[in-house]
Amino acid sequence: MPTIAHNLKQINAQIRAAEQIYHRVENSVQLLAVSKTKPASAVASAYQAGQRHFGENYVQEALSKQLELGAFDITWHFIGAIQSNKTKVLATHFDWIHCVDSLKIAQRLSSQRPKFLSPLNICVQVNISDETSKSGVTLDELPDLISQISELPNLILRGVMAIPAPQTDFALQREPYQKLVAAVNALKITGLTTFSFGMSDDLDAAIAEGSTLVRIGTALFGARR
Ligand SMILES: *Cc1c(COP(=O)(O)O)cnc(C)c1O
Repeated sequence: MPTIAHNLKQINAQIRAAEQIYHRVENSVQLLAVSKTKPASAVASAYQAGQRHFGENYVQEALSKQLELGAFDITWHFIGAIQSNKTKVLATHFDWIHCVDSLKIAQRLSSQRPKFLSPLNICVQVNISDETSKSGVTLDELPDLISQISELPNLILRGVMAIPAPQTDFALQREPYQKLVAAVNALKITGLTTFSFGMSDDLDAAIAEGSTLVRIGTALFGARR
């Protein structure tokens, strides 16, 4: 069975290769290791192989891994659905929050971010495949939410994230990402430099269309139960 260290090397090589093929700047695409449902030992293996950014979807599970891995210099990203009664723990225990899709959640995260920590990094989730998912704002709603979040003192708005409906065809995988990047660039807002999209099955399509942060679970840690 391939090890996590081996998989990590393969994925990083695939990312660098895709950067070249699609004329992206070298090292402009960062890998977020998605460790949901995997034990702390799996995170530790990836860490020892050089990985520093990890993404988690479930609050309690993430906190127990953070406790176990407290000695590691990990940047923790929350990529799960946000319940408003969890914003305080998210604002306290994470460096990045990827799925912000309402002003109310953003306001709570800002007011609950502890003062002794640097501002919380935020991505707004955009719904780019319409009916398949209820989370995320539409492209029409995006400009207003962006300008409202920009006013909040304890957040730094980094960019957008998206989870499109799964597609196997490469051209169809690229389509929603192309639309999203074009719409964000058309807003001409400086500082929106993070494009958080691309998972194990559409990594190349995401990089072809401008992803700066791919969120990879299965290809790194193996299938989830
Ligand atoms: C689980 C998850 C991933 C990783 O998906 P894989 O297909 O296992 O690479 C990426 N992003 C989000 C938001 C996820 O929930």
